[in-house]
Amino acid sequence: MKILIINAGSSSLKYQLTSIDENKTIAKGLCERIGLAGSALIYKPTGRDAYEFKKQMNDHTEAMKMVLGALIDPTIGVISGMEEICAVGHRLVHGGEKFTGSALITDEMLATMEELTELAPLHNPANLMGVRACREIMGDIPMVGVFDTAFHQTMPKKAYLYAIPYEAYTQMRIRRYGFHGTSHLYVSERAVALLNKPAENTKIITCHLGNGSSIAAVNGGKSVDTTMGFTPLEGLPMGSRCGDIDPAIVTYLMDKNNWNTSEVCAYLNKQSGMCGLSGVSPDFRDLWVAHNNGNERATAALEVFCYKVKRYIGAYAAVMNGVDAIVFTAGIGENDSGVREWVMKDMEYLGVDFNLDLNRKCPRGKEVELTNPNSRTKVFVIPTDEEMVIARDTARIAKL
Ligand code: AMP
Repeated sequence: MKILIINAGSSSLKYQLTSIDENKTIAKGLCERIGLAGSALIYKPTGRDAYEFKKQMNDHTEAMKMVLGALIDPTIGVISGMEEICAVGHRLVHGGEKFTGSALITDEMLATMEELTELAPLHNPANLMGVRACREIMGDIPMVGVFDTAFHQTMPKKAYLYAIPYEAYTQMRIRRYGFHGTSHLYVSERAVALLNKPAENTKIITCHLGNGSSIAAVNGGKSVDTTMGFTPLEGLPMGSRCGDIDPAIVTYLMDKNNWNTSEVCAYLNKQSGMCGLSGVSPDFRDLWVAHNNGNERATAALEVFCYKVKRYIGAYAAVMNGVDAIVFTAGIGENDSGVREWVMKDMEYLGVDFNLDLNRKCPRGKEVELTNPNSRTKVFVIPTDEEMVIARDTARIAKL
C-alpha cells in the first residue's frame, strides 16, 4: 500500500513515496525554486543515485506534474501508474483549535483551513497550494492533512493562555499552539516503547533540536506544554529565530530604529538566534568549529542555547512532578554530542546518570540510550520520523 507524503512550502515541495506495509521509503525528493528562475526537481529512488532535472516550474501544479512524471517514468520511475498511490498525506502547519488530530481533506475542511490562514500567513497558504495542486492532478485519491499543532491541543488552559486580556484569546485566537507536533508525538511514542511501561504512566520530555527547535512535556502520552507558542518564534533560541525575549524589546527596537512590523519581524526571525548571537552561522557544526578556535561569541551562543534547553527540562520536570525519560531528536539532538553533553551536565538532581562515553560514541540514525542502567531517568537519542506519523495517520483516516 503506497502513500505519497507532501510537504509544500511557498517555493518548494518535498515529497516521499512510502510503502506502509513494508515500512519503507520507495522514493523521495524535492522541487525547489517553484515560481522562480532556476527551478529544479530532485528525485531520489531508494537505493539509487539522485537525479536532478532543471526545468521551469511556474506553480505547485507544474511541480506536482514533474514529481508524478518522475515516479511513473518507465525508465527511472518506481511505480507503473498513479493508481498505485492509495492516498496522499499532506503536512499542514496550523490547525488552530479546529483540528485536534489529522483530518480527511474535503471542501469543507479546506474552507476551515482558509479561516486559519491569518494564524499562519506564511505556512498555511503554501501548504494549501500543495493540496490544491494534488487535487487538481490526482482527482479522487483520498487525501489527509496532518497538522504540526494537533498533538499539542491537549495542553491545559494554564499552559496555553497568555496573561494578556482574555479577549485576545476569545476574539483573536491568541494562545500557545505549539509546533513540531508530529515529531514530538513520534519520539514520545518510541520513548514509551523503550521504557516498556503503559503510556498513561510515563512522563517524557522531548527535545526537538534542529534549525527550528522546541521542547514538549508529554505526560501520559499527551502533550501538556511546549516551548513554541502562538508562532514558532517563542521558546528556545534557534538557527536565526530569537526564541523567548522580553516583549518590550520589540517596541523598543521599533522606536529606536524607526522600524515597521516587517522589519522587526525579519530581525527577530531571520537575523537573531544562533546566527545573530554568534555572528558566525546558524549551523551548530560551524559554531563548534568557531568555539574550538576561541571565538567567544560562538561560545556564548552555544552556552545560551544549552542553558535554555536545560532550563526548560527543569521546568517541564517540575510541571509533570518528575520525568522518566528525556529524548533528543532532530538535526542537533540526534547528531550534536557536544550540545547533549552541555545540556545534561549537572542533572543528577533529576536522577540522570549520564554516560559521557556512550554520548560521544553515539552512532548516527539509531535509537540509543545514553544513561547507565541504574539511571532513574533515562536519556534517549531517537531519530525522528515525521513521515511515518503522516503515512500512518493517512492510512488510518483514509481507511486503507
Ligand atoms: P533539522 O532542522 O532537524 O534538519 O536540523 C538542521 C540543523 O542540525 C543544522 O542547521 C545544524 O545546526 C544541525 N546539525 C546537523 N548535523 C549536525 C551534526 N553532525 N553536528 C551538529 N549539528 C548538526
